Amino acid sequence: MLRSLSIDPDKCTGCLQCEMACSLENEGIFNPARSRIKVFTFHEEGRFVPYTCTQCDEAWCMHACPVDAIKMNFQTGALEVNEKTCVGCKVCTIACPFGTINYNRVSGKVIKCDLCGGDPECAKACPTQAITYVDSDATGLEKMRAWAGKTDNAQHAAG
Ligand code: SF4
Ligand code: SF4
Repeated sequence: MLRSLSIDPDKCTGCLQCEMACSLENEGIFNPARSRIKVFTFHEEGRFVPYTCTQCDEAWCMHACPVDAIKMNFQTGALEVNEKTCVGCKVCTIACPFGTINYNRVSGKVIKCDLCGGDPECAKACPTQAITYVDSDATGLEKMRAWAGKTDNAQHAAG
């Protein structure tokens, strides 16, 4: 059974435990700047919106990659970057409409959420169940994609 991250922004308190857990798992340090999940803050509305890769079925990053460095892990449903194959061209970062695959200057490769191999640390760390890891059929994936679109638009408007 495939599972997906389900995100409910209404339950998010902005504590950033998810970002800390992600950076520790993937980078070995507590540093939200190195997290693959981001929590956007909308100060005026007092809202927090966690936001990460939605593992699109027809992933634009995967189709755009000229060297086939992005593949689906059929066990977890995650789209994973093969660091050995990736040449750091950043085409996938342009192709992704949500901005959830990013270039890492340290490695010269791109990084994205890979669902921690099927046991995502962000979901385990969230104290309010704003992030849960659920049966893909029951997930609010479309809701998360809608939020991702909104936050991405807000980012572009702000930038
Ligand atoms: S940065 Fe890497 S994963 Fe992205 S398109 Fe280029 S080679 Fe493919
Ligand atoms: S851990 Fe949960 S409540 Fe805290 S910022 Fe992340 S999603 Fe929001």
